[in-house]
Amino acid sequence: MDAGAKVSELPKVDPVTLAHIRDAAMSSDWAWRQLAKLTDEIGPRLSGSPQLTAAEIQVANTMRSLGAHVTLQAAKVPHWVRGEERAELIDYPGRQAGMSQTLRLTALGGSSATLGAGLTARVVVVHDFDELKARAKEVRGNIVLFESRFDQRLADNGYASNAYGQAGAYRFNGPSAAQTLGAAAALVRSIGGANFRLPHTGATKWKDGQLPIPAAALAAEDADLIERLATTGPVTLKLLLTPQTLPDADSSNVIAEWPGREKPGEYVVVSGHLDSWDLATGATDDGVGVIGAAAVLEVLRQLDLHPRRTIRFVAWTNEENGTRGSEAYFKSVEGNLGTQIAAIESDDGAGRSLGIAAAVTKDSLELLQPVLEALRPIGATVLAHRDGEVGADIEPLQKAGVPGFAPLVDSRHYFDYHHTAADTLDKVDPESFRTQVATMAVLAYYLAELPEPLPRFKISP
Ligand SMILES: [Zn+2]
Repeated sequence: MDAGAKVSELPKVDPVTLAHIRDAAMSSDWAWRQLAKLTDEIGPRLSGSPQLTAAEIQVANTMRSLGAHVTLQAAKVPHWVRGEERAELIDYPGRQAGMSQTLRLTALGGSSATLGAGLTARVVVVHDFDELKARAKEVRGNIVLFESRFDQRLADNGYASNAYGQAGAYRFNGPSAAQTLGAAAALVRSIGGANFRLPHTGATKWKDGQLPIPAAALAAEDADLIERLATTGPVTLKLLLTPQTLPDADSSNVIAEWPGREKPGEYVVVSGHLDSWDLATGATDDGVGVIGAAAVLEVLRQLDLHPRRTIRFVAWTNEENGTRGSEAYFKSVEGNLGTQIAAIESDDGAGRSLGIAAAVTKDSLELLQPVLEALRPIGATVLAHRDGEVGADIEPLQKAGVPGFAPLVDSRHYFDYHHTAADTLDKVDPESFRTQVATMAVLAYYLAELPEPLPRFKISP
């Protein structure tokens, strides 16, 4: 087969329309204004908070004003509330009488509280799970510090999520492993690339029926300090954490549909998560993702375009500490999976779009070329094949065979501010944000317009 024949066999989605969609996205400041409204008027949106409920209402109203058909899909979400958080080094090698040092730290989601006026114990520094096992006898009654570095070299070379996964293993599973060995509390080195002595929060996991212990992330500099001191002698820390776990709260996914002109019962999901951590306004995690996905409908409204199938915007609830929104959605479509044609989720920060990450069959890659062709003028030309999940909320759909997509973005500096008090609107570059909207809008329209859906692709369980 020659190249000409190959091109003529590509499905017919008008390239001029794709170019119009790209240009409309690149010349609109709608997404930026909506993101400012979300982060300035509402701010942090942790599951269970009144702010998350207010955000659901704000987004639902915004989507109604675009003329979309809006529904709220209920989900019960965990309700964990941060309290006071303080830590002090009260004894260490070289300390003189009357001296102590204050540490910067923040509780991890799901942490329990220390009792009474706080907990005083020795710190056991470990670098990995093997070392934890080897030093199991020292752990009981003490505070374990997991000194697990975020590998910025990987992030610098386009592998930020690998770096996050490596260091994240200790935030997700370290406190639970320490509890099993009788630790009184667990600390992790913050997962992040830029060290401004900012602690990075995030979820930690407990096994079913396991009693949580106090767990917190230390600023990287303070983890370094403890590690240096601990090489010469015992280090004693006083820790006060007063978070609370309340009964599950009511929340919702916000679903807004832009009806298809031929097959309104078939859906291309375009999404981001509306909840955020509580330390900042969640501008990059995941304000840009959820508002960028919403902007796909605004671009189609501008151009008065209705593709063959329905584009279904989903603002997920509770991605950060439970993915209950994702579960509720999957339950609602599980019996009718044929209606789910493709799913896009944006949750990799505010960097410039470089192209698309696609968890699809190898044969589908060729079919996606017209999307990259349309995005060529803005430099979003990379098509990265993925075998695994490309978004936590669409993972159940992907496991069931629905092709999954994410904008492929420059994430070299995403983890500088990720889950810190500095995840604020100024970290979002409006032009980079527009490239993400353009990428999602062209892709969503193309997938919804294709005469035949892409083949199913099951990611490994
Ligand atoms: Zn996120």
